[in-house]
Amino acid sequence: MFKSVLIANRGEIACRVARSARRLGMRTIAVYSQPDARALHVRLADEAHPIGPAAAAESYLAIEKIIAVAVAARAECIHPGYGFLSENAAFAQACADAGIVFVGPSPDAILAMGLKDRAKALMEKAGVPVVPGYHGERQDPKFLKEKAYQIGYPVLIKAVAGGGGKGMRRVDKHVEFDAALESAMREASAAFRDERVLIEKYVASPRHVEIQVFADKHGNAIHLNERDCSLQRRHQKVIEEAPAPGVTAEVRAAMGAAAVAAAKAVSYSGAGTVEFIADGAKGLRSDGFWFMEMNTRLQVEHPVTEAITGLDLVEWQFRAAAGEKLPLAQNAVPLNGHAVEARLYAEDPERGFLPSTGKLHRLELPSGEGIRVDTGVETGTEVTPYYDPMIAKVIAHASSREAALERLAGALDQTLAAGPRTNVAFLAALCRSADFRAGRFDTGFIDGHLGELVKAPQGLDAGAVALGAQILMGRIVRPQPRDPEAPPSPWEVTDAFQLTGLRATALALSANGEPVTATIRYDANGATATVNGVHAAADAVAVEAPDAVFVLRDGRQTRISLRDLAVNEAAGSGDGVIRAPMHGKVLAVFVEKGAKVARGERVAIIEAMKMEHTLTAPVDGEVVDISATPLAQVAEGAKLLQIKAAN
Ligand code: ADP
Ligand code: ADP
Ligand code: MG
Repeated sequence: MFKSVLIANRGEIACRVARSARRLGMRTIAVYSQPDARALHVRLADEAHPIGPAAAAESYLAIEKIIAVAVAARAECIHPGYGFLSENAAFAQACADAGIVFVGPSPDAILAMGLKDRAKALMEKAGVPVVPGYHGERQDPKFLKEKAYQIGYPVLIKAVAGGGGKGMRRVDKHVEFDAALESAMREASAAFRDERVLIEKYVASPRHVEIQVFADKHGNAIHLNERDCSLQRRHQKVIEEAPAPGVTAEVRAAMGAAAVAAAKAVSYSGAGTVEFIADGAKGLRSDGFWFMEMNTRLQVEHPVTEAITGLDLVEWQFRAAAGEKLPLAQNAVPLNGHAVEARLYAEDPERGFLPSTGKLHRLELPSGEGIRVDTGVETGTEVTPYYDPMIAKVIAHASSREAALERLAGALDQTLAAGPRTNVAFLAALCRSADFRAGRFDTGFIDGHLGELVKAPQGLDAGAVALGAQILMGRIVRPQPRDPEAPPSPWEVTDAFQLTGLRATALALSANGEPVTATIRYDANGATATVNGVHAAADAVAVEAPDAVFVLRDGRQTRISLRDLAVNEAAGSGDGVIRAPMHGKVLAVFVEKGAKVARGERVAIIEAMKMEHTLTAPVDGEVVDISATPLAQVAEGAKLLQIKAAN
């Protein structure tokens, strides 16, 4: 076995590979881009080396830099994880040239499967069923359109260099073909610098069923059962499971044999996945599945296979790369129970699944019997726009599919992520969807059930805002530490502040970016906030961040901040000038010239329309000017105080 490995990846997969490598006694070497300097994968490794700036092209995809680090750190092998350089034949070759073992197949095998047209032609020759269609050289639009007509609609246009669902267009009608072809080619050319496409019959009621294969360097190949990855959005997997519902022992044997034949046809070694599209219209059949592509690497969803087989696929990868023989014969591969994986993403289902970045102010991931979580982030990690916004994979294993889905739904309910928005509620709804539970699904399931799975964008959650208001109010009414010798000052009250006997104070807030005003009322027990007459929610979780409070309730997140701060945030650093938000009367000024104030600290109160409005310091700093005089009338926008930011 190897004594050291460089892991050429980041995030959860780098952490997951490191775990197995350490168990096998290897020295683990991490690489990281500048924003990942303090990432979990860096801290988990025995040593870590910087490889460049955020842009993947200059760091995680920079072959020369990675090889240089591997040589300097005397790494015996390089594990590429998935994504990035994992299916890059030039990288596999560069490893070999540097005398370092690439944990994966040969450059030739990667190349053979790298382009979908070439792979399909090769598979046809090897007797593997491929999706009917055209995957030849000719690319003129008129010819391709004719081919589409012959194949029969609906058809799928696919980029031959495609991946990640990019460059793919379904076409239902002949008249729509030209426009679809043009946009598929444009997308393919932008994403892969290769605009060539192929045309496939669009399989009705499609189910994505894939086979995990493994091969050693001695010509042996086996499969480790199938996975169903039909729950997709934009051709990207969302939930994966093993075994696939409806796959009989006979179908499994047929698919497995086809996948093993595919691997052998390219003299494969290591872990690979052969993806099939199956016709689910009348149940899965031995003659109803077709080769789509082979991914020549470890797959994101490999943990479900590990759960049902009890094997460590990364350990197998290392062993195969080291030249060991496959440790199991085909008939000895276990299949126990059922496993389901959900991909937890920083994205906003309510807003079209837009990626959502920002700091994870709190991350609590589930645990318990039959639950596995693979992650590369933690509380405090910044989810950046540079890389895939996956937060974690949550995997549940149980004796039956029903029990595994129940377990996964429960685990997702336990998951708490504040900061970026996440798809956690969407995933839990998927696990609980009756049709999915009953096995009635195909790749169109998510799109067809969006209404039931995704909450329609709703108005503000007033109860959540009120809770946030109450917490923020508590922060404002926090006096500065003062000299214990000084005489007591009337401005230091920390309880109900009622200068004029008014019973309510208005607090200007920003909730999910929208202006809201909370009403704070005082009684003997302290302050109570209401928003549009609604009291603070009792069934919500509040996570405090320096500039805001995140309230999580009913699968939704509301970010509440003080509006003065929000305004200053929006304007950049702010000029430190506090102005009257409306026409009114200055009731109190809490600070003197020269006083040191903390951001968010209350500095003055204005009364308008029978309500008190608390003004807070926009920055940490020193009060350098006070123009406001207590009890004076001020016009909207009038300068009241100025704070010079501390550096
Ligand atoms: P899977 O079928 O396992 O989901 P994909 O082909 O969609 O595999 O990609 C696997 C993972 O690698 C995805 O999470 C994707 O975001 C990431 N990925 C794919 N291509 C790249 C790339 N060029 N650079 C970085 N990450 C990538
Ligand atoms: P990628 O390289 O982007 O993963 P694939 O060829 O694996 O591309 O296809 C991605 C997804 O598109 C599949 O998982 C499946 O849901 C859908 N798909 C692909 N080919 C077909 C087809 N011929 N008929 C129906 N759906 C298909
Ligand atoms: Mg695919």
